[in-house]
Parts: sequence; structure tokens; C-alpha cells
Amino acid sequence: MSARVLVLGAGFGGLELSTILSERLGAAAEVTIIDKSDAFVLGFSKLDIMFGGATLDAVRLPYRNFVKPGVRFLRETIASIDPAARRVTTDVGIHDCDHLVVALGADYDLAATPGLESVNEFYSVAGAHALRDILPAFSKGRALVGVCGAPYKCPPAPSECALLLHDFLTKKGVRDQCEITMVLPLPSPVPPSPDTSKALIAAFGERNITFMPNRRIAEVDSGRCVAKLDDGEELPYDLFLGVPKHRAPAVVEASGTTEAGWVTVNPRTLETKHPNVYAIGDIANTGTPKAGVFAEAAAKAVASSLIRRIRGEGESHLYSGAGSCYIEFGGGRVGRVDVDFFSGPKPTGTYHEPNLALRTDKDAFGSVRRARWFGL
Ligand SMILES: Cc1cc2nc3c(=O)[nH]c(=O)nc-3n(C[C@H](O)[C@H](O)[C@H](O)COP(=O)(O)OP(=O)(O)OC[C@H]3O[C@@H](n4cnc5c(N)ncnc54)[C@H](O)[C@@H]3O)c2cc1C
Repeated sequence: MSARVLVLGAGFGGLELSTILSERLGAAAEVTIIDKSDAFVLGFSKLDIMFGGATLDAVRLPYRNFVKPGVRFLRETIASIDPAARRVTTDVGIHDCDHLVVALGADYDLAATPGLESVNEFYSVAGAHALRDILPAFSKGRALVGVCGAPYKCPPAPSECALLLHDFLTKKGVRDQCEITMVLPLPSPVPPSPDTSKALIAAFGERNITFMPNRRIAEVDSGRCVAKLDDGEELPYDLFLGVPKHRAPAVVEASGTTEAGWVTVNPRTLETKHPNVYAIGDIANTGTPKAGVFAEAAAKAVASSLIRRIRGEGESHLYSGAGSCYIEFGGGRVGRVDVDFFSGPKPTGTYHEPNLALRTDKDAFGSVRRARWFGL
């Protein structure tokens, strides 16, 4: 009998895991991957959508193109997870398995920040898409890029948003009539890399972007167009670009696998306390950033462990906790930070200055995944 592997969530983590299992296990496993959506969108494509660099159609990757031998994709919504029984109930039926991998990502908790529901956020596909029509109408006043809580996905993304907004307004010829402020609940833009943070803060300075670290948006009064920070300070705005507080999807919270908001795992093996149940990516509490490259690295580690268990082949690798993030500095220039959380006594980040060659690398990062996962 082949082993039944059930992967919950077809994002960065679930797609990479299922692809490796298809390549390496063949008929030795029946892999089922479940997602409620009909398409995947790479995280950074949201910035392209909102600033008009790409259309939603161009960046949507329909799951009908995710075709891998030995892998079955089911478009269903997960309603409950019983990790002890390795049983998952969806809106369509019940799925039992031998190995369960939870890769359901992070949800946005708009209700955690009073008033946020009535303003713009750019972290969801729908929010980024709506901004595409809203941004061209902004030509004067105060823009506020506001983060409502940490941890949040892709730590550099709010900084990229502020820098790309500067470019957008400059191109439109209205930058002089606008102010840009960014509120971040971290001490610096990319805490593991002081060099990256220094470069971003210098870029803010050159572009007259006000950076407010160690603060978060606690409330938004859209009637008065005022955002209230956690220390009570009020910031008036004309354009609000929010990053909602993140949380584990409710179905994962209800499964009893979370502590302090996220699924408790062994950070190096991604095992939960339940035998043959793993969690990878944004949902797992590993101490590493919530980013696609880290979800993929975790998927690689879990794949090696499953292949070892199912086929008795190869070595189980530990999760590296390392990954490279590209950072849009504006003007088409892209920087990179290589972050490593587990090799040394404390996390490190190596900064690569923005240039046009890294733009080519970032484009390749996207096209390699489109081809590998979706055959596009
Ligand atoms: C603006 C922005 C820019 C970013 N830039 C980068 C970047 O440059 N580099 C980078 O590495 N990362 C980037 N990220 C972060 C990256 O997108 C996420 O960290 C990554 O997608 C996490 O992967 P994951 O597999 O854990 O979860 P996800 O990719 O979020 O996948 C989770 C899946 O679970 C599904 N799901 C959830 N609940 C259910 C349910 N109940 N039933 C069925 N299906 C369900 C969802 O539909 C989703 O497809 C960015 C994010 C944003 C918002």
C-alpha cells in the first residue's frame, strides 16, 4: 500500500512540498493537496498589482496548471483538523492520511484593529487590486503606510511599499504635494540585518519619507481620517495603506495545535507534538520570518523526512532557517538580504546593494516557480 500524504494549503510551502514528493516518491505515495482558492499569487506580485506594474490576470497562477504525477489537487475549504486522528474535514468530505502537513499560511485579522475594515490594506490580493484604482486619484496630502502588528509577512514589504509609492507619485509629478510616513512595530526595517536597515533608512531620508519605528497602528478613525498609534499619538492621513495584524487561520486555532498564536513545532524538523503531523511556512512558530523562501526551505526539510520514512531512502535534513529576500528600492533597482537564523548564536543578514542585475535575479525567482509548479 502506498503512503497517504495530505498537504493542507497550496501556497509556497504546500506547492514546493508536493512537487518534491511527486518527483521523488512516484507510486510510493498518494499525495493530496487541498486549497480553497482557484489560483496562487506570489506575495511580491501584490506590489506589482497595486502600483500598476502587472495586472491581476497576469500574476494569477491557476491551480488547474498544477499537474504533478502522483499528486491530486482538491479545491475544498478545510473546516476542521483532528491532528491526533490525522483526519481533516472539508466542505466536501473527510480525508484520512498517514502523514499530515499543515501549510495554511497566515490570515489577516482586520477586526483586531478597530476601523481597519473601512480603509485600504495592501496585503491581500483583493486589497492590492482595489488600490490599483485608488492610487491614481491620490495627488495631494498625507500617505500613511501603517503596520498593525508583528509578526507580519515579508518584513521588508512595507518599506518597499513606501519606496514604490515615492516613485509612483514622482512619476505622476505630484510628489512635492504629498507626504509619506511609515509606521512599523519593529526597531528597524530588517532587524537581522543592520546593513539592510541602514540602507533602507538612508533611502527613506533621501526621499523625504518619515520612518516611525517601534510603533504600531492601534485604531483607525476613517471619519476623521486619523490613525491612532499604540502610544496614543494621532496621525492624520489622506491615504492609508495598511498591513493588518496577522493570525493563524481559525480552523488551525480550533485544532488545538497553536500556542501564542502559531503552531508549535520543533523548529528544525517542523514536527508537531502529534506523530506524523508537521507544520510549515507562515503558520509554524519556528522563530524565522514569515516569507515564501522560508516556507519553501521548511518544505524541503519535511520532504526529506517523509521520503526517508516512506521509502527508507536518503537523509532527513534539518530546516536551514535561511533564505534570501529581494527588496524593491525604487527606480527598478532591487537589493537583496541573505538571512540565516540557525547557523550562528544569533540571526544574521548579509546585505547586497540594489542594482539592475538583482532585478533580473528577482524576475528569475518568479519565473522559476511559475515553471516548476505550474508548467508556465
Ligand atoms: C506584499 C507582500 C510581499 C511579499 N514578498 C515576498 C517576497 O518577496 N519573498 C518571499 O519569500 N515572500 C514574500 N511574501 C510573503 C509570502 O507571500 C508568504 O510568506 C508565503 O506565501 C507563505 O507561504 P505559506 O505556504 O506558509 O502560506 P501561503 O502561501 O499563504 O498559502 C496558504 C494557503 O492556504 C490556503 N488556505 C488557508 N485557509 C484555508 C482553508 N480553511 N481551506 C483551504 N485552504 C486554505 C490559502 O488559500 C493559501 O493558498 C510577501 C507577502 C506580501 C503580502
